[in-house]
Amino acid sequence: MKILVINCGSSSIKYKLYDTKISSLLAKGLIERIGEKNSKAKNHTEGIKLLISRIIEEGAVDKLEEISAIGHRVVHGGEVFTQPHIIDDAVIGKIKECVPLAPLHNPANLAGILSCAKVLPDTPQVAVFDTAFHQTMPEAAYLYAIPGYFYKKYKIRKYGFHGTSHQFVACQAADILGKPLEKIKLITCHLGNGCSITAIDKGKSIDTSMGFTPLEGLIMGTRSGDIDVAAVFHIMKKEKKHIADMDEILNKKSGLLGISGLSNDFRSIVEAAKRGNRFAKLAYDMFSYRIEKYIGAYYFALGGADAICFTGGIGENSKKFISDIKKKLKRIIDSKTKIMVVPTDEELMIARLTYKMVKGKQKCH
Ligand code: AMP
Repeated sequence: MKILVINCGSSSIKYKLYDTKISSLLAKGLIERIGEKNSKAKNHTEGIKLLISRIIEEGAVDKLEEISAIGHRVVHGGEVFTQPHIIDDAVIGKIKECVPLAPLHNPANLAGILSCAKVLPDTPQVAVFDTAFHQTMPEAAYLYAIPGYFYKKYKIRKYGFHGTSHQFVACQAADILGKPLEKIKLITCHLGNGCSITAIDKGKSIDTSMGFTPLEGLIMGTRSGDIDVAAVFHIMKKEKKHIADMDEILNKKSGLLGISGLSNDFRSIVEAAKRGNRFAKLAYDMFSYRIEKYIGAYYFALGGADAICFTGGIGENSKKFISDIKKKLKRIIDSKTKIMVVPTDEELMIARLTYKMVKGKQKCH
């Protein structure tokens, strides 16, 4: 079964085509600069047409009808979507209702869905939500300690993100351990430019480090992660900053970039620290310490873990980071807890979930 996976941004479409029978990647690509002057795609519909003609030219499919289903990454499913859904008008309406929670991402995801419906009207489409995997968190983990009115009126709560990646890594880890996912406890650490950690009990997310938005939790490439909100008020007062300025500072200018003053790229941080740059070393130490704190908290919340898994650009590739954190963790955790590097593949997970929805199969991978 050939499944097209689409990740739509406001001006780009990333795509991958899989044969889910053998989990093989048949084609992948990126359509950029949608809507820009001189672009080949004036809008998302033209972008979808362009990517279809590319995969036909490359010989990955002979005709449109060979694409059995389309899986879309949708960033925010609010509290409505606890699992992937086959897309119909009602689902589109509910994704629209979640726009206030992800005003930059959900409209772009919707543009992709509506464009595919125009270009491939007979092909089933499935929405796979970044937040859905975390909808199993208990109230005690997802509510913030603010007056309940804000949750009731605006749905202010922790949602968590990177759900598809945490789910994929958990499935892989269960395979590696040779145990059913329903019988194990895992801590999955997605460490890339965005970073999050999830505590998974019997295949279900019970807590995760990102919050109402991806800003909460770990120190990331350019995001601060956890910070005392009163410190933000203080900066706003002293520097006469507006909400948009603070949003930019905390999301785009903080994290590894803000601490080091050099880069958001982990490789540059490690290299500069090696050369003796004090602020790069500080960024590395702060980044690692925050991860250790979260792992410690989730290890306690779960009552131990069968494995702690690292993934994402940093988690999969930085030998130094993995070696350093292994040394620290081994001193503290139970010797039976495995520490593993598990490469993630969010698009393959979307393809598998899409297949499952379309075929009605229950296996998670
Ligand atoms: P991602 O967002 O998952 O693509 O991850 C991006 C992050 O992974 C960046 O901070 C990169 O510097 C980091 N990264 C990628 N390759 C390596 C590597 N070989 N060693 C250390 N960090 C890496």
